[in-house]
Amino acid sequence: MILQTANLGCFTVHFQHAMTEGAPRRTRCVIHAARKEKCTGNLCGATDALQGQAHCAAGDMFDKSRGRKVALARALKSLPRQSRAEIWTAYFNFIGHF
Ligand SMILES: [Zn+2]
Repeated sequence: MILQTANLGCFTVHFQHAMTEGAPRRTRCVIHAARKEKCTGNLCGATDALQGQAHCAAGDMFDKSRGRKVALARALKSLPRQSRAEIWTAYFNFIGHF
């Protein structure tokens, strides 16, 4: 997805849900500044990308929406609070609800 923030420009966000049999379900998030070239693949390996990963604990119901939020929060944790807030606002605008 492409997120348009108020002051930071556009970001490309990738999510990948890993559902390997017998392993904990995981959600990976990669976020980077949007650019003209099309991203290659689901997790594009952009050198400026921030990454986060969420694991489903044993007994948890796998919830894609929750997995995305946890993975995105982890990807953003090195950013200043204001930047994180802008990206979250753009994220919730994109998905259409809070
Ligand atoms: Zn990308």
